Amino acid sequence: MRALITGGAGFLGSHLCDRLLAEGMEVICVDNLLTGNQDNISHLLGNPRFKFIHHDVTNFIFIKGDIDYVLHFASPASPKDYLNYPIQTLKVGSLGTLNTLGLALEKSATFFLASTSEIYGDPLVNPQPEDYWGNVNSIGIRGVYDEAKRFAEALTMAYHRYHNLSTRIVRIFNTYGPRMRLDDGRALPTFITQALRGETLSVYGDGSQTRSFTYVSDTIEGFYKILTSDHPEPFNIGNPEELSILDFASKIANAAGVELRVENKPLPEDDPKVRRPDISRAKELLNWEPKVSLTEGLEKTLPFFKEQLEAIR
Ligand code: NAD
Ligand code: UDP
Repeated sequence: MRALITGGAGFLGSHLCDRLLAEGMEVICVDNLLTGNQDNISHLLGNPRFKFIHHDVTNFIFIKGDIDYVLHFASPASPKDYLNYPIQTLKVGSLGTLNTLGLALEKSATFFLASTSEIYGDPLVNPQPEDYWGNVNSIGIRGVYDEAKRFAEALTMAYHRYHNLSTRIVRIFNTYGPRMRLDDGRALPTFITQALRGETLSVYGDGSQTRSFTYVSDTIEGFYKILTSDHPEPFNIGNPEELSILDFASKIANAAGVELRVENKPLPEDDPKVRRPDISRAKELLNWEPKVSLTEGLEKTLPFFKEQLEAIR
């Protein structure tokens, strides 16, 4: 089996490269390194079943030979990144999805879209099941990401219905683990970095907004189960353990062995107030559910951040 992963040098993409290689596949990683890092895949560069292509997938993609799976993960993913790259985010979600779907069609491959819980926007329903249509501000600052992903889902379903292409959609909820960029602005890398440096933790607003955090190995297992299933409808993949951002900051301080000191900062525009996946569908159809608790996941994640901080000291 031969798989092509766009965004394969990013946080999730690189873990997925590892997993598909471990399953015995050949993996082609296509990435323009906009928000990714070649260090994430440096351990794979000598593997004869792995190939890295530096390419922007908003441009036409040409690949020789057969491909069985096209997995589209390329996109800025943290709010800081997609606010820094609003046009690139819209382009990779629209033109990038069109190009990768075109490639999948040409190769008769299964197409797999990395979508997001952000398609639910600032949800009026909690937890969010897959049949909730969401509450997105299309012209707000987060709209560049949310609408790009909503368009990508619509385009994927159109290729499925019109061209009969085999497609999969995963709606990923906040995932964390080694290989996240220290400065990507997301809550977890920011809080861990601050805690390890003995700084105050920058909690936006009063910290009462909620999120549900999934450890990367659980998320990757979910991807693999979806990929090897036969379901074109979207799946939520996330951990239903919901907590406030203030409690999250406290858990991180605790894991890092420091006292919690918080500095409240203004809440960003359109920051969702709640977020929690309803994972009944994945449980029932894929027999998937997360296994790693937040406490365990933080323990597995901290050494990576300590190492990174040591390296830049
Ligand atoms: P990331 O920034 O680490 O990875 C994204 C990768 O895409 C980077 O390596 C980047 O260089 C690459 N990329 C961006 N634009 C590109 C382009 N035009 N051409 C080629 N490569 C390009 O982010 P991540 O957290 O690994 O997210 C990966 C995917 O998963 C994204 O599609 C994101 O929307 C989705 N997702 C992630 C999470 C999460 O919690 N990490 C949650 C929901 C959805
Ligand atoms: N957040 C925070 N301080 C930070 C970074 C993020 O309080 O330094 C909050 C943010 O406002 C949001 C939550 O943490 O409510 C999760 O943010 P993140 O950027 O990780 O992902 P999001 O779920 O918003 O995409």
